[in-house]
Amino acid sequence: MTPRRKTRQVTAGTVKIGGGAPVALQSMTSGYTHEIDACIAEVRRLASAGADLVRVAVPEKRDTEALPEILAASPVPIIADVHFHYERAMEAIRAGVAKIRLNPGNIQDRKQVMRVIAACKERNIPIRVGVNEGGIVERRNKQQRAAEQHSLADDYSAGLVRLMLAKLDEYLRMFDEADFHDVVLAAKSIDPRIVIDAYTAISARYDYPLHLGVTHAGPPETGRIRSIAALGTLLAGGIGDTIRISYAADPVREVEDGKELLCCLGLRPRTEPELIACPSCGRIEVDLFKLVADVRHKLASEITLPIKVAVMGCVVNGPGECEGADVAIFAGRGKGIIYVQGEKKRTVSEDAMLDALLAECRALAERVARGEATLKNATDAPPAGAPSPGSRPSGRRLPLARG
Ligand code: SF4
Repeated sequence: MTPRRKTRQVTAGTVKIGGGAPVALQSMTSGYTHEIDACIAEVRRLASAGADLVRVAVPEKRDTEALPEILAASPVPIIADVHFHYERAMEAIRAGVAKIRLNPGNIQDRKQVMRVIAACKERNIPIRVGVNEGGIVERRNKQQRAAEQHSLADDYSAGLVRLMLAKLDEYLRMFDEADFHDVVLAAKSIDPRIVIDAYTAISARYDYPLHLGVTHAGPPETGRIRSIAALGTLLAGGIGDTIRISYAADPVREVEDGKELLCCLGLRPRTEPELIACPSCGRIEVDLFKLVADVRHKLASEITLPIKVAVMGCVVNGPGECEGADVAIFAGRGKGIIYVQGEKKRTVSEDAMLDALLAECRALAERVARGEATLKNATDAPPAGAPSPGSRPSGRRLPLARG
């Protein structure tokens, strides 16, 4: 893992983004914001799943009118997602949202963008400024549109990254003019390679914190790989201060996968059981898939500690994984050997493996609660969050070549 890149820090309500703060996990509600009860319920589900911030769309006045009630009931800071209508941004700011997502490119009048910036500056509300592959090419000005399309013709990926940087430069000039620097940047594409290139280039050019995401990634079954390829690569390279995984599905799944990604990379402390299991092969002599599924289900419903549990199929890798887990089993012909914190405990028959493993998990959890044991995840994991931020960077741009 590369140490995290130092950035400026912005504050969205109770959540700090960048400047060494832990990578913030965010998601977005999928329902209508003006359906207040349903929106609050969805915000709460996302927060319970682990979201640090939740974004809501405010396309209509009735959506911003719903914000005070939603904000009052939300356990996490709320971000207003604004497109096209600057009035929605102004209403959301007055309602007290913690952050605004704004694409200056789709707000027609520059004066209106400046008014939004001034209102945010007055209330210390950060703005996420984004460029998105789907909407980056100019639509209103035909000449400019033709020029931008032409710039993408030869080498689409490189051309798109250049265009993203050029647009961000253009937008940020407005923010510079207003001396407003509570900015978070984003540059999303459906192609993970472009996402990696774009954020790498942006991180070399600006010291603003970055919001990572792969846009329109699709359903979790396909979008998961697309998203993790890009976000995992960037985070491992020290780039990224807040993330959103976006799926065409219940957004709780975005939060679950985002949380797991951050836990896997040591960027977030694990709070729930971690299950390690072998893939099974021709050496297997028990029904391992069923055992793994049953253990996973039971752990999720019964154990609230970050206990590391291993379920292994045979002696090849079983003992090694068992010794590194809190509670583990490795199977042999019709039986399994249980380990607890590296020590062999007992041998059980195949039909008793699930119950015996869970009994050991519960017993260990009780010992942890009494302060008599420490979990592997508490001693192995890198510290939560990020390295010390050091001093706050003072420059807005880094002196690197534009391209
Ligand atoms: S632990 Fe044993 S059964 Fe499982 S994949 Fe490895 S060799 Fe195969």
